[in-house]
Amino acid sequence: MDIRLYNTLTREKQVFSPMNPQRVTMYVCGPTVYSYAHIGNARPPVAFDVLFRLLRLAYGEDHVVYAANITDVDDKIIAAAAETGRPIAEITALYERIYREDMAALGVIEPTYRPHATEHIEDMVEIIGTLVAKGHAYQGQNGVLFHVPSMNDYGKLSGRNRDDMVAGARVEVDGGKRDPADFALWKAAKAGEPAEARWPSPWGEGRPGWHVECSAMAKSVLGETIDIHAGGLDLIFPHHENEIAQSECAHGKPMAHYWLHNGFLDIDSEKMSKSTGNVKLVHDLLKTYDGETMRMALLSAHYRGPLDWTEALLAQAKATLDRLYNALRRMKDAEAADIEAPDGVVEALCDDLNTPQALAELSALATEANKSSELAWPRLKGQILAAGRLLGLLQRDPDDWARGDASDAGRIDALVAARVAARKAKDFAEADRIRKELAAEGIEIMDGPDGSTWRRI
Ligand SMILES: [Zn+2]
Repeated sequence: MDIRLYNTLTREKQVFSPMNPQRVTMYVCGPTVYSYAHIGNARPPVAFDVLFRLLRLAYGEDHVVYAANITDVDDKIIAAAAETGRPIAEITALYERIYREDMAALGVIEPTYRPHATEHIEDMVEIIGTLVAKGHAYQGQNGVLFHVPSMNDYGKLSGRNRDDMVAGARVEVDGGKRDPADFALWKAAKAGEPAEARWPSPWGEGRPGWHVECSAMAKSVLGETIDIHAGGLDLIFPHHENEIAQSECAHGKPMAHYWLHNGFLDIDSEKMSKSTGNVKLVHDLLKTYDGETMRMALLSAHYRGPLDWTEALLAQAKATLDRLYNALRRMKDAEAADIEAPDGVVEALCDDLNTPQALAELSALATEANKSSELAWPRLKGQILAAGRLLGLLQRDPDDWARGDASDAGRIDALVAARVAARKAKDFAEADRIRKELAAEGIEIMDGPDGSTWRRI
């Protein structure tokens, strides 16, 4: 079973060959926990969750070690604490919990490790110390900086040359930078910053830079060299380039052999941004859409390509799941054969995680199930369930799925609309009755200037 993966570092699809098949290692950059995750943030954990499942199939469940970190110290977190007056630990614990719940709703299985940046400050200080001792880093006015010209092959991941990088970097005259491309490893604490965001170091109190957090966590949890390092396309430069610089200059060996990056996610053909006002939070989407439908939508495009998140995409994902669950419902009374995922599905995933092809293979099985006699059901049911497990789909009771299919959201919308009509007609008793009926189901109606909406509480 050859798994081929597109490696950003070599710019080609390569047969995956781990250093030690008994302990295959993968690291994926995780969230900075100061607010809700948007749907673009969910693309890497879902895509690389499929890779985690595939690697476990290929090497055995106990032979794949997957770490996805939590960044719980960062300028944005400090700013959020200052804005709200809440302790940093309270903010990070809250948003980490919500993040994990959101990812679980999208069918993401827990990584083997979830290292937290604040638990590895000493490891970061150690790497920075090594870099200073080896002449790759120096103390500037505001902390410690990595000296980019000290690394001969800096830029190998992104393919950017020095002029490109410097043109993009703002020259800081006050940072004591020796080179405009140099970046922060250790940030000296500023006056007024909270005590819980500063740690001691040989260069004074402060906190680590974001890039060195991942270098330290990957090393301490997985080792100096790992098999796979993955994340979003936007992390190639500078984040991953700088992780490589730190780890390779400190340890004198490659940081990772395979670098994987997922493509961007747009909303209705537009870039998601706060200024456009089209940011879609996973937490909000889950009030309207089933998590499995969202996962299906995320997997409908190849992970390296762009994905356009639209109502139509979600409707299509839902229709596909309805069809697959209906096939399972038809075979409800058949005993599923204890069988491996069919070759077509496995081969598609082994080809650089070709999820669209894998889903097409799965649909073909449903078509076959709808046409076949009961004799073929144990095999087909077993195959559909095994393929579903590999993709993180189709593990629910098909009857439960069908009940949800009665368009719960549509029913609630209709009740909310009936309440609005009752209020307009000054039938307040009826309006109140509907409000109470929905409240009993855990649904709260919110009245605003643009009409009434609802949410589950
Ligand atoms: Zn990272």
